[in-house]
Amino acid sequence: RAKELGKNRYHLFDTAQDEAVKAQRENLEDIRNALDNQQFVLYYQPKVNMKTGIVIGVEALIRWQHPERGLLSPIEFLPVIENNPMSYEMGEWVIDTALSQISEWQRTGLNLPVGISVNITAAHLQHPNFSKMLAQKLAAHPEVDPHYLELEVLETSALDNIKDVTSIMNVCIGLGVNFALDDFGTGYSSLTYLRRLPANLIKIDQSFVRDMLHDTDDLAIIEGVIALAKSFKREVIAEGVETKEHGSALLQLGCELAQGYGIAKPMPAEQIPAWIISWVPDKSWTQQL
Ligand code: C2E
Ligand code: MG
Ligand code: MG
Ligand code: MG
Repeated sequence: RAKELGKNRYHLFDTAQDEAVKAQRENLEDIRNALDNQQFVLYYQPKVNMKTGIVIGVEALIRWQHPERGLLSPIEFLPVIENNPMSYEMGEWVIDTALSQISEWQRTGLNLPVGISVNITAAHLQHPNFSKMLAQKLAAHPEVDPHYLELEVLETSALDNIKDVTSIMNVCIGLGVNFALDDFGTGYSSLTYLRRLPANLIKIDQSFVRDMLHDTDDLAIIEGVIALAKSFKREVIAEGVETKEHGSALLQLGCELAQGYGIAKPMPAEQIPAWIISWVPDKSWTQQL
């Protein structure tokens, strides 16, 4: 009884902050369990050349197959583990799973050597063991040509510590992998910075693509990024291509690579081979060229 009273009194002094700490701890425990019980899955979204019809690869996007809440998107759980070592564990799982997937697609004999890009946080990339870990994962998959693995790093975070990030990127490139700068245009890249970062692919952020048909500022940014990529001999891909109007506008601007719901939504691995075989670029996209 005394214990009960004490408990109640304690509750009187509970603050919202205590509740938040408790919620965060519970969320972390849930993710711990999810990792242990293999509840995470990778979905894959095709990246295509709208002009040639070639599927250039797929991007791996993590999902949580939650037993009660269904399929959860990364914004629901990545922020929870942002400053937790579990984020490294998850990042390693993503790399592992992507390498196994490349290997499986190669083995199925569909003549589909499909490259996979994975999203890597800047914190993970800068972890002292990152390149060693990557080398070990690649060594565990000798059948996979490392060129089929691409690491996507956010433009904003790559620039935060450009010197260190550049040297780690170069070590990883030495192992054979490629880099892409994700959400490009949202950061503060100067020409000098972009030139120093050894990423061979620039991904135009979807926010610019979304409004490019109505907003002349966004259109100008897209034109600028395409010109920038051309002069530095980088590839450029548009994210968030939702309609054929976006697709044909981008083609007219000289951006042939695209990814977005207008081409395909992220899908489970099993659906990828059939999708690739059946995909033909929409003629109406290229008609106006
Ligand atoms: P991102 O890397 O920029 O990925 C693109 C996001 O846009 C994905 O959301 C994708 O489903 C969505 N998307 C693709 N096409 C369209 C479109 O046409 N319209 C719209 N509105 N959205 C489109 P998703 O899968 O929810 O992922 C969100 C972000 O979470 C990713 O942005 C990435 O930063 C992060 N993320 C996803 N998977 C991983 C992962 O395995 N590791 C890490 N560290 N981050 C991840
Ligand atoms: Mg990405
Ligand atoms: Mg992006
Ligand atoms: Mg994004």
